[in-house]
Amino acid sequence: MAASDSSFIHWRFAAQGLFDLKQALKKQGIQLLVLHAEFIEFFERLLEYVDVKIVYSHCETGNQVSFNRDKHVAAYLKMKAVIWKEYQRDGVVRRLKSRKAWPANWYQTMHNSLFASASLKFSELRLPVPFLNAFEIPDFPIDDKARFQPGGRQNGLKYLNSFLQERVVGYVKHISKPAESRRSCSRLSPYLAWGMLSMREVYQAVERQKKLQPERRFQLKFFQERLRWHCHFIQKFETECRMEFHNLNPVFNQVRTQTNERILEAWKAGATGFPLVDACMRCLKATGYINFRMRAMLVSFITHNCWQPWQAIAPYLAQLFLDYEPGIHYPQIQMQAGSSGTHIIRTYDVVKQSYKQDPMGNFIRLWVEELKDLPLAFVHEPWKLSREDRMKSIPSYPEPVVDLKQSRQFAQQELWGLKKTKQAKEYNQYLLNLLTNQGS
Ligand SMILES: Cc1cc2nc3c(=O)[nH]c(=O)nc-3n(C[C@H](O)[C@H](O)[C@H](O)COP(=O)(O)OP(=O)(O)OC[C@H]3O[C@@H](n4cnc5c(N)ncnc54)[C@H](O)[C@@H]3O)c2cc1C
Repeated sequence: MAASDSSFIHWRFAAQGLFDLKQALKKQGIQLLVLHAEFIEFFERLLEYVDVKIVYSHCETGNQVSFNRDKHVAAYLKMKAVIWKEYQRDGVVRRLKSRKAWPANWYQTMHNSLFASASLKFSELRLPVPFLNAFEIPDFPIDDKARFQPGGRQNGLKYLNSFLQERVVGYVKHISKPAESRRSCSRLSPYLAWGMLSMREVYQAVERQKKLQPERRFQLKFFQERLRWHCHFIQKFETECRMEFHNLNPVFNQVRTQTNERILEAWKAGATGFPLVDACMRCLKATGYINFRMRAMLVSFITHNCWQPWQAIAPYLAQLFLDYEPGIHYPQIQMQAGSSGTHIIRTYDVVKQSYKQDPMGNFIRLWVEELKDLPLAFVHEPWKLSREDRMKSIPSYPEPVVDLKQSRQFAQQELWGLKKTKQAKEYNQYLLNLLTNQGS
């Protein structure tokens, strides 16, 4: 919880999910205990009351912090002769030997029957009140006024159903638009990241919908493809978890070594002087969500145009994304920053994106208060106002922090120059072999 990529919004969402589960189980006469503790400290105390034989959990592909925790827990449980049974999640395989068969196996996993909760058997367990008081956390009902998606399986199912039955119509058309995509994308990512919906149940619901609505097959398949990407990225991260901290291709270690605090702060605050960049950042901070294209643009802007190391912004963005999933986050950040070495290096033109993805400037006006009364001719490029008009109409909106054209040219030249070197190509080949043949 104290890690640099962790934030209150994540834990509030998780707590809402547990509260929802608690309510659902209560109806079946089962009491769910929601406890918060360091695992080993808690377990030591638990063993005073219960003879634990097996610990069950899902197999988490997390960050370095959770990986270290897992190693400690594994060693501790081994010492106590307790079995730890971890269940594979979403088709992501631990200690995968080769990735060649992975795509086919993923589809197979998605078609396997769902786990039947009815087969669970509970036996009664009585724990002393002082013990529970030491670890139990209070309930966390949902605050209806929050602008963030509410946690919990019931809410996840509502999003799933409304997407498949109605919202999917505009999915492909609006996927890159910051305003429209808020409705037309599924918005399932936080529920998938926190396990409130399983990837398999979502996949199977889409399969059923394809039969019910053959006219929407295209959109539904497009969506299903992204479900596979979700797991594909996590699987890659399982193998190459060093990408949380290091450039995937070390040839990029020689560039972007310095940070500029003034520029970083401006970007974090949504005050770069580029309206779409600022609108996206402010919207993300207020709601925990922005669509894929705008995430890519935010990263490309700060790492290419502003020439900042991606390591300086990855934890910050992780804190803001309600759907933070390390296995997707770090590979995506590196892809957009152009440090993976294998992917095409894209430097988004933030002004072009502004005209294209928000043609009427409505998204910008909604989130950048200072620009809300500007005529359309200036909303995308307020620097085109005369100095006098600028001082009069938008005195508090900042000047652009960089020269867009020059910085773009510089970044493209530097990054492509490195990507084309023999050293970069050799390392790419090594990486490709590693990812295809080895696994971790
Ligand atoms: C820099 C950057 C960081 C990102 N960090 C995260 C993250 O921490 N967690 C996260 O879930 N997604 C992340 N994404 C991927 C993507 O932006 C989100 O999954 C998507 O915007 C979530 O909205 P949605 O559920 O409405 O997506 P939909 O378009 O409805 O997609 C359905 C599901 O497919 C998966 N998905 C969609 N696009 C991608 C993608 N490009 N890569 C992998 N999986 C995808 C997600 O699970 C998503 O919920 C990141 C993208 C970028 C560029």
